[in-house]
Amino acid sequence: MALTITSECINCDVCEPECPNQAISMGETIYVIDPAKCTECVGHFDEPQCIQVCPVECIPVNPDHVESKDQLWAKFRRLQAQAA
Ligand code: SF4
Ligand code: SF4
Repeated sequence: MALTITSECINCDVCEPECPNQAISMGETIYVIDPAKCTECVGHFDEPQCIQVCPVECIPVNPDHVESKDQLWAKFRRLQAQAA
């Protein structure tokens, strides 16, 4: 599953630099996660790094982007191939 940021985000800026996939960016009013780039940190870390650092716990899974671990690994490999 990709993750998403809710309106409770306080724009504290700490999650953006922690994302290994550059999936987090500033949106119109709050930070947003690009579901095409979020692997739930699969391939990089055991736990989603953004959730670890968010002080207000406003990063749940995105119900519109439910993916299995295999799909997340496939996304990770696609992103790595694009970056190469
Ligand atoms: Fe980035 Fe990982 Fe958070 Fe997804 S779970 S947005 S890949 S830090
Ligand atoms: Fe928003 Fe949480 Fe990211 Fe801070 S860490 S910018 S509160 S989503």
